[in-house]
Amino acid sequence: MGLLDKFDAARQTRDTLCALPLNPTDVVIDEVVSATEAMIHGRHTIMAGTNNYLGLTFDSEAIAAGQAALAACGTGTTGSRMANGTYRDHLNLEAELAAFFDTPYAMVFSTGYAANLGSLAALLAPGDPVLLDSEAHASLFDGCRLSGADIFRFKHNDADSLASRLRRLGERASSALIVAEGLYSIRGDCAPLAEFAAVKREFGAVLLVDEAHSLGLYGAHGRGLVEQEGVEADTDFIVGTFSKSLGSIGGFCVSKHPELALFRYASRPYIFTASPCPSVIATTRVALRQLSTRPELRDKVWANAHHLYGALAALGLELGPHVSPVVGISFRERETAFGCWQGLFNAGVYTNLILPPAAPDGGSLIRCSVTAAHSTAQIDAIIAAFDGVCRELRVGRYAAR
Ligand code: PMP
Repeated sequence: MGLLDKFDAARQTRDTLCALPLNPTDVVIDEVVSATEAMIHGRHTIMAGTNNYLGLTFDSEAIAAGQAALAACGTGTTGSRMANGTYRDHLNLEAELAAFFDTPYAMVFSTGYAANLGSLAALLAPGDPVLLDSEAHASLFDGCRLSGADIFRFKHNDADSLASRLRRLGERASSALIVAEGLYSIRGDCAPLAEFAAVKREFGAVLLVDEAHSLGLYGAHGRGLVEQEGVEADTDFIVGTFSKSLGSIGGFCVSKHPELALFRYASRPYIFTASPCPSVIATTRVALRQLSTRPELRDKVWANAHHLYGALAALGLELGPHVSPVVGISFRERETAFGCWQGLFNAGVYTNLILPPAAPDGGSLIRCSVTAAHSTAQIDAIIAAFDGVCRELRVGRYAAR
């Protein structure tokens, strides 16, 4: 087999998608109209499949801060944090993240993906045991793999499965790392973090939680599911991203452990990449301030989440177990999922189509997300589009009996 023959599978995937009336992986946003609307293929579209949970991508203060940083510091740092890429504001943001999470240590990475890769590759050495939720994000899996650790996957959101895997490790369990997410981004289900924390205590393991999708949505201060579930003291490392509730790009890790400060000397995905642009750091700092000082954003996104989840449940669609700003709709047939996605798109509503192997359990899903920036009228329009498509395709409560 030649080196390039391995692309046959990718080529086949692409050709299958290109044969569809509209390739869902080939959607181009021609014009961004607002935090919730775009022009796509000449059509005015409501965006119901972003991670812009607090709707801050058009926050005027964040934009002004980004513009000022561009003018003052230029377009990029052109260097690693370990060389010429640490500007005063990278440190300011790290101090603000530490204060926000009430932890002594914080580190900023260039993306959320790099935060996971960099944190896990620093924490784990070859042969260390790591217990990873079976539906954990690819970046968590890749970080474990990069480290050379021994990876043991436990059943999604199942504390018994986690405990039994740890039990089988015997003495090694006390040096194990447990890795889970808070809110899961496909079905909108939440990890049983209090149960995981109890298992962690029982075995003397270390717990890392990826709060990429939970930041800004859960907890009295918006710190995430770890805060809401009261497990901050048990959580050793929290990783997250700026690319969702904070509306920019970048990632972070916070911890009570002083070893986090040593990641800087041990984490290749931190050392061997350029630091985030000053304008990105500037908008992120403003967004973090907005997140912590405007709880009304959280109230609005949750009101929208309840509205959409309730209406889609009433349509008889198969939803995830928890109401959340991520509403995942499962379909048995891949063709139905695609037909529904296409019908919604034709009706001016963009959602995320998730087909195997990206979807859990080999199923197909449509992922909807709501933001604090969606108006009630927009949520109603999304619901009306779903109603029309379900009626046309005879799914949910319109299914033939
Ligand atoms: N963790 C999780 C759970 C995610 O869903 C994502 C991105 N979808 C990431 C990490 C990576 O974040 P980023 O896109 O900021 O690199």
